[in-house]
Amino acid sequence: GWCHVVCALYIPEVSFGSINSMEPIILKKVPQDRYNKLCYICEEQGRANKATSGACMQCNYKSGCKQHFHVTWSVCFACSSNHYKLN
Ligand SMILES: [Zn+2]
Ligand SMILES: [Zn+2]
Repeated sequence: GWCHVVCALYIPEVSFGSINSMEPIILKKVPQDRYNKLCYICEEQGRANKATSGACMQCNYKSGCKQHFHVTWSVCFACSSNHYKLN
């Protein structure tokens, strides 16, 4: 398995063999489901071919938003304006 460190930080099922070196990254517990999700941000950016690759996280900003997107985006674009207002 292979994963960005940033993915590992955002996906709760990912664990590290060693916390200090942040490796090896253990993906065994990640549900296959996460890899089957479509990243709606990639899709909107015209990168549909990338949208299905990699692990996605689900927006948890508000219950009404159930969008999935790559952890590398960090924030849900649809909700980000609200995030910034709160900050
Ligand atoms: Zn994406
Ligand atoms: Zn959202």
